[in-house]
Amino acid sequence: MNQGKLIVLSAPSGSGKTTLVKYLLNHKEFNLGFSISAASREPRNGEIHGKDYYFLSLQEFKDKIKADDFLEWEEVYRDNFYGTLKSEVQRLWDSGKHVIFDIDVVGGLDIKRIYPERTLAIFVKPPSIEELKIRLKKRKTESEDKINMRVSKASTEMATAPQFDAIVTNDNLENAKDEVYQLVKKFIL
Ligand code: 5GP
Repeated sequence: MNQGKLIVLSAPSGSGKTTLVKYLLNHKEFNLGFSISAASREPRNGEIHGKDYYFLSLQEFKDKIKADDFLEWEEVYRDNFYGTLKSEVQRLWDSGKHVIFDIDVVGGLDIKRIYPERTLAIFVKPPSIEELKIRLKKRKTESEDKINMRVSKASTEMATAPQFDAIVTNDNLENAKDEVYQLVKKFIL
């Protein structure tokens, strides 16, 4: 399929966008395929190479940047590179699917810029920075330092919200699910 569409969910880390992406993927009528990003960070407990991310070494990641293999890439945190491989989007389009992305705000806006008509870019907004901090602490996947790094980045990320096609505030998960469902339905079906 060459006319596949792109659905981007972007948000500060801890906003609950991953839950919303999984919810959308479960709606088979949308025919969405998850864009597995490449990342240079270490896998967290339970994360699987080729399912959650393509985990690359820093050197491998940099080699792929040089080879122009990425549609977009970014150093989201220091020495933690993340990016969307061109081959990944093509793989999903070739299998007849629309592509859904769980990526940071800069990457999300890059995708929108590259494919303005074919992309629905949704910003998932956490209720507040305080709530975001609480969620990241509960998740217990990062050290205090890393949590602070993510929280301080969140304020800058919140400022990009108006550049997206739609903003969904995730203060109530059920409502947020409904909202993204309706947005995607209108865009795809
Ligand atoms: P995490 O380490 O929590 O899995 O992800 C950190 C941040 O990187 C999240 O905001 C996530 O959405 C973002 N991210 C994941 N994949 C990509 C990607 O391919 N490109 C960009 N620009 N950001 C990504």
